[in-house]
Parts: sequence; C-alpha cells; structure tokens
Amino acid sequence: MDHRQIEDRFSVGVYQKRGVVIVRGEGARVWDDAGREYVDCVGGIGVANVGHCNPAVVAAIQAQAARLITCNELFYNDARACCLEQLDRITPEGINRFFLCNSGTEAVEGAIKFARMATGRKHVVAAMRGYHGKTLGSLSATWERKYREPFAPLVPDFSHVPYNNVEEFEKAIDNQTAAVILEPIQGEGGVRPATAEFLQAVRRACDEKGALLIIDEIQTGFGRTGRMFACEHFGVLPDILTMAKGIAGGVPMGAIGIDRRVGEIERLSHTSTFGGNPLACAAAVAAINVLVGQDLPRQAAETGEYFVRRLREIESPRFREIRGLGLMIGVELKDKAGPIAQALMEKGVLVLLAGTTVLRFLPPLVINREQVDQVVKTLATVLAAGPRATAE
Ligand code: PMP
Repeated sequence: MDHRQIEDRFSVGVYQKRGVVIVRGEGARVWDDAGREYVDCVGGIGVANVGHCNPAVVAAIQAQAARLITCNELFYNDARACCLEQLDRITPEGINRFFLCNSGTEAVEGAIKFARMATGRKHVVAAMRGYHGKTLGSLSATWERKYREPFAPLVPDFSHVPYNNVEEFEKAIDNQTAAVILEPIQGEGGVRPATAEFLQAVRRACDEKGALLIIDEIQTGFGRTGRMFACEHFGVLPDILTMAKGIAGGVPMGAIGIDRRVGEIERLSHTSTFGGNPLACAAAVAAINVLVGQDLPRQAAETGEYFVRRLREIESPRFREIRGLGLMIGVELKDKAGPIAQALMEKGVLVLLAGTTVLRFLPPLVINREQVDQVVKTLATVLAAGPRATAE
C-alpha cells in the first residue's frame, strides 16, 4: 500500500483528501513524494506564516527538544516564561494574561468558559457564517448547519446574528449576554471582512451591557492580514483574544489572551496537560521573533496588495468578487471552486476553498512576488480553460 492507501485504510475518514502526499516544505513551497514542487497557498490552513521550516523555528525546536520537551504548568518553565512575555508584547493593548493550549478550538472553548465565569452570565452571541471550531463548545458558536446538526443538542444559550448588521447585533446584546464572539474577517465563511462601523458598534454595545467581546483571531492573527492582529485595522480592542494557527511556526499551539477587566479566573477551572509545553513555547518565541524582526505583517500587507492587484488584472467573467486583507484573500466565483482548486494543484499551485464558490489563499507571509505571479498566471490559465476542462 502507498501512503495514500494506508491513510485511507486507517484514518476515520473525516477529511476530504487531495490526492498528493506532501513530504517537504521550505518557505512558500512544498514538495510531494514524487519530487513535484508546489507554490503553497494553503500553508497548513493559514499556519505557516513564517514559512515552512523557517530556519529560526527549526533551530529553536531542535535545541528545545534536546533540553526539555514536556513540563506541565504544575511547574514554571523558562521557555514558557519567554513565550508569555512575547505574547504580551505583540497582542493588542489591554491583553496581558494568557492561557496556553494546543489548538484553535481549544482556545475558543476556554474563551467561552472564561467569559461565562467572569460575567456570571450564559448567553453567547455569534455571527451567521462564523467559524470557531468543531468541539462541542466552539461548535455551538460555529454557524454552519451541516457541522452542527448531527451533534445536537449542543451547548445551550448561543444565538447567531447576521454579520456586519449593526442593528441586529445591538438587538441581540443585552444584560444576559456573557460574550459576543466574532472573527474580524470571516475565514471559513468565505473571506468576508467586517466593517469598522460594525465592530465598533458591537464594542460599544458590549460596553453598555457589560458583555465581553471575544475576538477570534485564530485565522487572522500573527501578521496574516497586514497587521499583527486584524482588530488593529478596525480600532477595536477585544476583552478576550483567541489565537492559534500561525502562533508557533507550525507546531500545534493555541492561546487565549485576556484583558484585566475579565477579572480573576478560578484556579483549576480550566487546564490542559500539554498546554504551555516547552517545545511549542520555544517554537512560538522563535516564530514571533521572526514575525517582528522581519516585519512580516508589513510584508503581508504589501504582498497582499500586489496579489489582489494581479488577480484583478485577470478580468475573468467567472469572477464574482475578490476580497480580503493582507495575505488572507478570497476569490468568489460564479461557479464551483472545487474543480478550479483541483486543476491548480495539477499545475503546481495549492489553494484552499471557503464554501463552495470561494477560492481562498493563505500563503506563508514570506511568499515572494515571483511566486505570486506564478499563482496568478496559473489561475488565469485554469479559468481560461473553461468549466469543462476543469471538471472533477
Ligand atoms: N476559529 C477560527 C476563526 C478558525 O479559522 C479556526 C480554524 N479554521 C478555528 C477557530 C478552529 O481552529 P482549530 O482547527 O485549530 O481547532
């Protein structure tokens, strides 16, 4: 059996696999087991912000692995202390205490618990088309019906309100609301940016009603949108910030950041065996140093602008809309995006989908203009070939 067959045989099969075996990565490129090279606009789903196998991250992991891999938060640890200091340095004003975990959904779980604990209230207001993860708590905040319905009943007291609709959110937020949870740009929901007016109105409504604002920056954080955190574009500060994906250069890690107004969190109310482990922390310190040292948020802003400009030059009648911020880019098509993604892969370009009609690009922030040109040129070729040539 080859590697594909082995995975298909022994995995529970919840993933929709693409038929290549990726074995190596460097910067914005990956290679399959036949030695074919790809420009990678998937990046582990927006994880590889500092580039695949960034040398500083690799060196930090190697050194830490040889020294200490595991150390629960029962004890203090040097790598963890450095990581917390770095997070404090780069997160938005007010966010100054952190809970370290291992994934995005876990960060959202903790954020919901902290919000309920801090406010003594239960209700959470989330957005239609929002995505916050697939474990039961975060799934309760996720909107997509096909992910939710098979697992009902979910956690009670969640409601979903149309994104970017100030009036509906103002109506939904009241003195029973523990928290509002929002992505500043909806990722899985189709790469849809919030308006500044909307986020600012939600912030005001939360303040008026004593509700906490959880900003989910799991996909938008760590330079992705051209700022270290996307909320900086909108002049809105969170009470609770959820992070994961790009935080540790590709090593699994998540984090929750809280503002002082969240108050004290009771001991042992939330814990994790692997949370804050030295290996992930050392990787995060290295990744954050690269993000800051090379000013990758600025690079993402500039390359993203170039990327979008080049995409608009294609002028395909199959485009409905091109949207995004920095290197979080969505191309909404008038027809299905899946066959286009498949055809792109066959021509050496990996892209994501966001729903059925949106192509999503989340490349490492170190992607260069030549590689962007290659992506755009390949997309133009695939689109020009017409729907029949790209049928699955
Ligand atoms: N929140 C957002 C905004 C996300 O984009 C994701 C993952 N796509 C999650 C939460 C869940 O993260 P994970 O897959 O690491 O559980």
